[in-house]
Amino acid sequence: MIDLLIRDATIITMDPDRRIIENGTIAIDGGRITAIDAGLSLKASRELSAPGCVILPGLINAHTHVYQALIEGIGYDMHFDPWNWRFLFPIVSKMSPHHAEISAELAALEMIKSGTTTVSDHWYMHTDTRNIYGVTEAFDRAGMRAQMVYGLLDQTFAGERIESEYMTMIHRQETLLAEARQFAHAWHRTRRTTVALGPGSTEDISHELMLKTAELARELNINVSTHVAGWIEINAYTLRRFGERDLEHLHSIGLTGPRGVFFHAVWLSDREINLLAETGSKVVHCPVANAYLGYGIAPVSKMLAMGIPVGLGTDGAASYTYDLWQVARATAMLQKASRLDGEAITAEEILAMLTINGAKVLGLDSEVGSLEVGKRADLIVLDLNQPHLLPGGRYVPKLVYSAQGPDVIHVVIDGQVVMENRRVQTLDESDVIKRAQEARADLIAHAGQETRDLLAAPWPSRGPYWRAIVHENEKRRREEA
Ligand SMILES: [Zn+2]
Repeated sequence: MIDLLIRDATIITMDPDRRIIENGTIAIDGGRITAIDAGLSLKASRELSAPGCVILPGLINAHTHVYQALIEGIGYDMHFDPWNWRFLFPIVSKMSPHHAEISAELAALEMIKSGTTTVSDHWYMHTDTRNIYGVTEAFDRAGMRAQMVYGLLDQTFAGERIESEYMTMIHRQETLLAEARQFAHAWHRTRRTTVALGPGSTEDISHELMLKTAELARELNINVSTHVAGWIEINAYTLRRFGERDLEHLHSIGLTGPRGVFFHAVWLSDREINLLAETGSKVVHCPVANAYLGYGIAPVSKMLAMGIPVGLGTDGAASYTYDLWQVARATAMLQKASRLDGEAITAEEILAMLTINGAKVLGLDSEVGSLEVGKRADLIVLDLNQPHLLPGGRYVPKLVYSAQGPDVIHVVIDGQVVMENRRVQTLDESDVIKRAQEARADLIAHAGQETRDLLAAPWPSRGPYWRAIVHENEKRRREEA
């Protein structure tokens, strides 16, 4: 008698042979896949029949910041700098452990409901040292697999504006290193959670702390995951400061390699793409957030052609979604359109980025990312019996180009049925939504005048809405002076 049997579905395994099994059955026991084939007859304590459905490995969101889940829609249509300084920091600099935990529950709910089973959250919002613990516990309770990236920021934006009242996430390097070590000891390889270290970016961390972070990661044998060359300004900073482009600099100080995970990777020279390939470094592509903030489009098809493992991430509020199906579709469209080449990337490559390659990026591919006997049972079931997914043809392009989060009906993580028939089993959905709304209102109540101005801004007659507020405030300041 085994724990769980899912039968009568098409299984897209993503195994090395990329087998697709029609009318397949998958057997799960003790959290692992014990058998996978057509026409298996086994006795199980629980069975799910899924005719007309497809079973896939659970999706992997390889980069996000869930604290931003609470505040989407306040500051919008902004460039990266005002997005941070006029929208993001004035609100989240007041974040408490309570807000942090609810942000994770809200994001977990959205992720599970759209088929994400593994999340890598880059948490640097240490306004309170307990925040990251609440977030990790929330993912754990939700039943998700998580790689928590412990953020380390001892300066921000090239050390500018450090005296700002909003810089409550900046701490001294001794504190950050000690806290990161303690967090790794508490959570690394605990149940479904692993830990990595995450400098904000070359701009957000002093040279000395960057070197010490790399040293600590080597000692703990964990990933170093950081934003690289996302926005064009950062190359200007690193060229001025170190005489090297951003990724070149991270390579010089030893951060490239199989334990190096780089988010965005937009503004790379050909030499830097070569460095990624030669060193076995990993990349997380966040196309929606990159496009939305006007960063640009990462040269992903080039990276894939060179064998660089690339996973997909939503990033934070700039994606406006945790639905990785939207990210998958954007990946395809942006590569094809920007390269003027309909063959620039394929549906099969994108499905691999969502699953097995995402697992490779996080160093979890021996455990998850494909459906194979012996691996942990992280899988999702999508219902194809819907107008937008019919009539069937080849499964993979239909999924990559047509599927949406709500098509996912069951989610299993580590053998546990976390969602059944779209009902999340591990979180009380209406309670999370209610508490998220209260937490958002509370954060806004504690934020300053600028946030209230953003919320009260009228429908713009032309241009981005937030500029009118800035002009108005500047005018008032001049008049008062
Ligand atoms: Zn990010």
